[in-house]
Amino acid sequence: MTLPKPGPHCKARTKNGKRCRAATTEGGLCFFHANPNKASELGRIGGRSKRYKTDENADPLPSLHTATAIRDAVARLIADVYAGKVHPKIAAGIAPLMSLQLQAIETADLERRLASVEKLVAKADANEMPEEGLEDTAPMQPTSTDTKT
Ligand SMILES: [Zn+2]
Repeated sequence: MTLPKPGPHCKARTKNGKRCRAATTEGGLCFFHANPNKASELGRIGGRSKRYKTDENADPLPSLHTATAIRDAVARLIADVYAGKVHPKIAAGIAPLMSLQLQAIETADLERRLASVEKLVAKADANEMPEEGLEDTAPMQPTSTDTKT
């Protein structure tokens, strides 16, 4: 009985009994099987990384109803991400929403200003004499002397 050539794969078996498919280092074992403590060590390093307890650490979101409030909130968000209080992924999720909110505020602001301008124009139109270019629509033209026959 001839076993197939082991190849460059690790001799050890994984926890579920399958052959470890990792490439070998010296001794016919892969890096992790040759250094069994390494995996948990790396895991510990990973687990030691900063935890983002946004529920506890993060201040409640301020009201975002003005462009100024958004500007301040963005500035605070940047500072919180930098300080490790807010996870960058959360900030990355919030950023487009803030941008959307800012757009909505700008649009609403423009609409409000346009409405007030339209109001003023309508008021001016009602009070003032129609100017040139409106002869056709003006029913009575007191200054017109040449009556067509
Ligand atoms: Zn292995």
